[in-house]
Amino acid sequence: MTQAVTVQEIYQAIRDVPDFPKPGIMFKDITPLLLDPARFRRALELMAAPFGGSKVRRVVSIESRGFLLLEYGTDALEMHRDAVGSGDRVLIVDDVLATGGTAEAAAKLVRAHGAEVVGFTFLIALDFLKGRERLRNECVEALLHYA
Ligand code: AMP
Repeated sequence: MTQAVTVQEIYQAIRDVPDFPKPGIMFKDITPLLLDPARFRRALELMAAPFGGSKVRRVVSIESRGFLLLEYGTDALEMHRDAVGSGDRVLIVDDVLATGGTAEAAAKLVRAHGAEVVGFTFLIALDFLKGRERLRNECVEALLHYA
């Protein structure tokens, strides 16, 4: 059933919110995708697929909803001490790769726990912000790209 959903249809479920949270920022709102189970499921399948053979033990995801009003400032990421452990193979997941700062910080946190970062998978990459360069030594996948 979800096979019928095309990548184009996933692009169509991303809403642009201009000038949010600051003038000049085009916010990529994934809410329409979250409200469409078939497209959301397909997006998750496609995000996970490149890591199907990677023996991932933990998925770490960055909860950023609470950051909405703090965007483009500085903030801290926190994780429970027992969330990942020594030797765990971890896949880091986030909705948007922008400058890569958030992903880099998440990886640092995971590695500080002695775990191994297998890679990163994003729904959206804002390629013009060059986040991939910041993560150049990592395995990075993204489903939707904006130039
Ligand atoms: P960065 O650390 O610059 O790669 O920013 C990535 C984080 O900020 C992700 O967790 C996103 O949720 C959020 N983010 C940054 N830019 C946008 C954008 N234009 N639209 C939606 N979310 C964004």
